[in-house]
Amino acid sequence: MKYMIKTWGCQMNVLDSDKMGGILQGIGYEATDDEREADVILLNTCSVREGPENKVFTELGRLKPLKKDRRVILGLVGCVAQQEKAGVFKRAPYVDLVMGPRAVRNLPELLAQARYQHAIDTQFHDDSILFPDQVIARSSATKAYITIMEGCNKRCTFCIVPTTRGRETYRPMSAIVDEARRAVDAGYKEVELLGQNVNCWKCEGLRFQDLLAAVSDIPGLRRLRFTTSHPRHFPLEAADLMGERDNICNYLHLPVQAGSDRILKVMRRQYDRAWYLDLIDAIRARVPGIAFSTDIIVGFPGESEEDFQETLGVVRRVEYDTAFSFRFSPRPGTPAEGMEAVPEAVARERHQRLLDLQLQIQTRRFAAYEGRVVEVLVEGKSKKGGQFSGRTEDNKVVNFTTARVPAVNSFLDVKITRSAVNSLVGEVIE
Ligand code: SAM
Repeated sequence: MKYMIKTWGCQMNVLDSDKMGGILQGIGYEATDDEREADVILLNTCSVREGPENKVFTELGRLKPLKKDRRVILGLVGCVAQQEKAGVFKRAPYVDLVMGPRAVRNLPELLAQARYQHAIDTQFHDDSILFPDQVIARSSATKAYITIMEGCNKRCTFCIVPTTRGRETYRPMSAIVDEARRAVDAGYKEVELLGQNVNCWKCEGLRFQDLLAAVSDIPGLRRLRFTTSHPRHFPLEAADLMGERDNICNYLHLPVQAGSDRILKVMRRQYDRAWYLDLIDAIRARVPGIAFSTDIIVGFPGESEEDFQETLGVVRRVEYDTAFSFRFSPRPGTPAEGMEAVPEAVARERHQRLLDLQLQIQTRRFAAYEGRVVEVLVEGKSKKGGQFSGRTEDNKVVNFTTARVPAVNSFLDVKITRSAVNSLVGEVIE
C-alpha cells in the first residue's frame, strides 16, 4: 500500500505532513511521488489566504478521475479541512476523508472508516500536543522541526489561524528537550522550534527563554532556530541568549504586518510602530549582525496612501534581509472580513512598490556578502546557480561549486563570489 501527501503552507503544515507520513509508515504504507500508484492521497494545505484554498479544490478536482479505476482514498487535511469541515463533502463529494490539524493522531481510524463512508475529525483534541515524536517521518535531512505549542490566543482581525488551530496549548519542556536530543543523536545539526506564537510558550513557571536555553544546551546541536515570534511578546532575554550562544542562529522572523499605528490598531496587533522599531534596535544591540525577516500585509481594509508610506518607512528603517508580503485576503469569520476593502488595483500597485523597495534593500544587503567566507550547512544538489546548495546561520541560501561531492548535513566554508536576488553564490574553500 502506498501514500502520497502534498503540502502547501508554513513549517507547521510541513511538520503535520511529516507526522501523517510517520503514522502511515507505521501501519505499513510506503511513500510514493506517483499519484497513479498511491492508495491514499492526502492534500494538506494552509488557509491564511484565499489563493491556496482555491488551489486545493482545483487539485482535488484534478485527482478525482484517479478514483474511477481504483479504490483510492482522497483526503483533505490541515487548515482548509478544519475551516470547511463537513462542507468539504458538499463541495467535493468524492473526497473520502476530512481531518483538521489537531486530529492527526486519529488518521488510522479515519482511514479505516473512509473505506466505507465519509470520515471526518475536525475536533481540537487536547492531546494533539503530545504527539509521539518517534513516529515522525522527517522530510528534511538537515533540519528537525519540533512542535513546542499548538494554536494561537491572539485575535489579529485578519487571521484565520485561531479558527483553524484552536487555543494555545503548550508541550512540556521535558518532551521538547528529549525530542531535540533524539534529533541530534540521529544526526541532525539543526533544530527549529515551531509554534504560531512561540514567545508565549510557558510550562510550570518556565518561559520561552528558559526553553531556548535548555535546548541550546544539548551537546552536538549546532544550529537552533524558532518561529513564529510576535513583537508584543518577544522577550529580550531571548535576544541576550542569541547574542551569547553560538548555536542560536542570528536570524529572526519578526512579522510587523503594517507600519501605520492606525492600521496596527485595527489589526489588533497590540504594538505600535515605535514599539516595534525600539524592539528591533534592542535586539540589534544584543545580537550584532542579526538578519531580520518579516511578514507584511498590503491593502488591509482602510489602508490609505499615508498608512502605506508608513509601512515603506519601516521597511527602509529596518532593512530586512527578507520580507514576505501579501495582499490582504478576507478570511471567513474574521473581523476584517466585513471591513471595506481597498480596491484591488490599488492594493496590487502598492504591493509592487513594496516588492520593488525590498528588492533594492535585499540586493544591497546580499551584495555585502561578496568576498566573505560563510559556514554553510549542506542541504544537497542545487536547483540553480551552482552544483550544491546549503544555508548560512542567518538563513541565506548559498549555491556553491566544489571539487568533491559534499555530504548532506555537513558544514563547509564557502567563499561568496556573487550575490543574486534571493541567494548567494560561492566556492568551497578546500
Ligand atoms: N502567527 C504568525 C504571526 O502572528 O505573525 C503568522 C502566521 S500566518 C500563517 C503567516 C502570515 O500570513 C502572517 O504573518 C500574515 O502576514 C499573513 N496573513 C495572515 N492572514 C492574512 C490575510 N487574511 N491576508 C493576507 N495575509 C495574511
